[in-house]
Amino acid sequence: MESPRQAQVVLPLPLDRVFSYSIPDEWREVVRVGSRVIVPLGRRTLTGYIVGLDAAPPVVDDKPIKLKPLVDLVDEEPLLSPETLTFCRQLADYYLCSWGEALRAALPPGINASAQCHFEPNPDPDTRLPIRLTPNREFILRTVAAMAPVSKSLLSRELGNRPFVYDLDLLVRSRWLLARSVVGGGRTKGMEKKVLCLEKVSDPVLLEKQQAHFRRAPRQGALHALLLARNAPVDRSELMALGFGSGVIQGLIDGGIARQDLVVDSVEDSYDTDHSVRTLVLNQEQALAVERVGAFIRKPRDPGRRHKGFLLHGITGSGKTQVYLELARRARKLGLSVLVLVPEISLTPQIVARFRAFLGSDVAVIHSRLGNSQRFSIWRDIRAGRIRSVVGARSALFAPLQDLGLIIVDEEHESSFKQFEPQPRYHARDAALLRGAGLRIPVLLGSATPSMESWYNANQGKFERITLTRRVSGRPMPEVQLVDMKETLEQIAGKGRTVRAFGDTLIKRLVETVGSGNKAIVLQNRRGYSPWIQCEACREALRCIRCDISLTWHRTDNKCHCHLCGLEIPVPARCPACHEGSMLLLGSGTQKVEEELEEMFPEARVMRMDRDTTFAADAYVRMVRDFNSGNYDILLGTKSVAKGLDFSAVTLVGVVNADTELNLQDFRAQEWGYQLVSQVAGRAGRGEKPGTVIVQSFDPEHAVLQDAARHDFQSFADRELGQREALGYPPFGRLCRLVVKSLDETLCANCCEALHGWMNERRGAVQLLGPGPAPVRQVRREFRYQIVLKSTRRADPSGRALRELARSARAHFESRLSSKDLSLIVDVDPQSLM
Ligand code: ADP
Ligand code: ZN
Repeated sequence: MESPRQAQVVLPLPLDRVFSYSIPDEWREVVRVGSRVIVPLGRRTLTGYIVGLDAAPPVVDDKPIKLKPLVDLVDEEPLLSPETLTFCRQLADYYLCSWGEALRAALPPGINASAQCHFEPNPDPDTRLPIRLTPNREFILRTVAAMAPVSKSLLSRELGNRPFVYDLDLLVRSRWLLARSVVGGGRTKGMEKKVLCLEKVSDPVLLEKQQAHFRRAPRQGALHALLLARNAPVDRSELMALGFGSGVIQGLIDGGIARQDLVVDSVEDSYDTDHSVRTLVLNQEQALAVERVGAFIRKPRDPGRRHKGFLLHGITGSGKTQVYLELARRARKLGLSVLVLVPEISLTPQIVARFRAFLGSDVAVIHSRLGNSQRFSIWRDIRAGRIRSVVGARSALFAPLQDLGLIIVDEEHESSFKQFEPQPRYHARDAALLRGAGLRIPVLLGSATPSMESWYNANQGKFERITLTRRVSGRPMPEVQLVDMKETLEQIAGKGRTVRAFGDTLIKRLVETVGSGNKAIVLQNRRGYSPWIQCEACREALRCIRCDISLTWHRTDNKCHCHLCGLEIPVPARCPACHEGSMLLLGSGTQKVEEELEEMFPEARVMRMDRDTTFAADAYVRMVRDFNSGNYDILLGTKSVAKGLDFSAVTLVGVVNADTELNLQDFRAQEWGYQLVSQVAGRAGRGEKPGTVIVQSFDPEHAVLQDAARHDFQSFADRELGQREALGYPPFGRLCRLVVKSLDETLCANCCEALHGWMNERRGAVQLLGPGPAPVRQVRREFRYQIVLKSTRRADPSGRALRELARSARAHFESRLSSKDLSLIVDVDPQSLM
């Protein structure tokens, strides 16, 4: 192409538009599609992405027009590959966001801050190209020489109002100056973190002095107690997040009680390599699975290369991961890269170690706890082709792998694959299928409890179904016993005390298990101590003042917490509603269950794993390792204990209350209930010894629990699909949810009403549910009113009618209804309608 004159640019804003800018002459040879640029928009200056270049001068109606020029070219090499550009455009079309928003999601967060360029003079005059040295250019050269290496932002401050962007670029391209990309603005800055450590004190006089000090400064006392309990340096950012302000921290430092250290948060991760898995011989079912998917792993130029979706349905412990490993190795042998998506929670050292053993050290792990600079440096290594295999959570979907040849989505049913904020609100599984189709490669979805969507797609022949029916080495599935808790309810203990969390059967089995030196997992999918705080007089539950949910009392800090917005308040002495009764602490969260376990088994070592104990970056990984290495008897926790862990010593799994999920007001509640019970049950009996599962419920006859107890996924799926079909819910219908949000409830309700009226006249075959308040009506003070769009596969096979209606509703909202006090969320294929 002739060198381009205009660039098409998209912006990471909710604007479905491509903007044109003229390209300054100096850059015409160097601009590339996929590079970031700085552009003017109105009075603002924004970072955008070049999606197209055009050699023709801009014209409208045959008349030349003048476009605004690009302000700056950020990347020397394009950051976004053609594949990413296309994929993101399709993603944006499907999830109703702008192309620019999707591209922003494809780049590591903080890239703008981290990908700083530093400039220094080129010491070798022979390699400089001849250019005219204008006074401005000379001035820039002198300034850089004096400050080198210097970042663009510092330089710009130094040069004041002088225009320098063009000249700087020219000086770099003519090699008068050298530009180097550095991460985090400085050498290792941004990778360093501050930690707080206790000073060692053994002098009793000093200790007494400290105690006296803490009586006057109780927050410092609390911080001291926490540091003492951890017995290790703690991140300053974690302490701040736990509510210790910088004043409290500084108090400890000034008092000589603690000191602050700077440690380098290295990119090296804490995952090991597990070599034992390399020698396993696949069983027949596994080998067949590898053959069928393997046939589709082909090089880019192979004429037989095409996309196909596979659903690997294998009961827990049937060796699905081993199948992934073999397939990944095949792809790598052909020189292709591999992407493995797993739920955040399954990113355990176990699975990563297995991939490392199979694929070598070029396996990168991407999870939400990486810092921005770590993320960026991994991303850069992937883009440069230095990393060829990625195991990661949702956002790894966008990993810019070269020659991608296989995508695997493990635990494909997990709702955490759905992104909620910000746009694009993609489902990583569905998006992976989209990416795989674009690349003409196989996408393998695996699960012991497939989503109804994938199960249906397999029934319809859209996916090829592969089944692993047996556990490896002939291990039996654990026996599941359902226990009726209505009887336990009748044995309410003393006043103000709640029902015991454990029934007799589970207690008896725990005694046996711990007594014989085996390990148990106990699931209670609620954190905190009492999830229900109720007035003994008027029976009102204590609710958050900002959100429409009830508060949970935590024993650890004796406060009532909101699990949505983080509000913490002391327990009110009198009920805020009737001012009469005092508050009862009801229900059992993990902290209460932990207390009961400690009372019953004073000698047992109990590990509690929930969001409150896994806050630190590597806590989860560390806890899994500790539990495995034998220091604990009972692992107690929320959902996280149900997923993907492979502990051979676990012979008992107890579910404290299986009703929690089933009682949720959502069309997916039954599916979640089945998955949770069945996944946690799958943690039992993975070693030599057989496993037992005790499931407590107030409704043990519930069909879903009965199916889960028999490990009968087919029966569950048949019934569930029948109900979904009758109601037209996914996978038989499509859903899109519009949520209007505002701090003002009347405004919110009226706007939602108006939007509904407008849509109702244009809805065609699309059904509208609502308008009305969302089941959780208020979150962080904001009210939420919603309209749910629904269309059947028969009337709207491609979902286009539904998406078009949602798109035009959004446009109508933007142009007619929106104000600064209102916002609209568009969620295609919502995971939940709460
Ligand atoms: P899943 O992912 O289906 O839960 P895994 O792949 O984790 O199952 O396998 C469960 C256990 O069985 C693991 O400890 C794994 O190392 C082992 N395993 C898998 N395949 C085989 C095999 N063919 N022979 C022996 N052991 C196997
Ligand atoms: Zn709240």
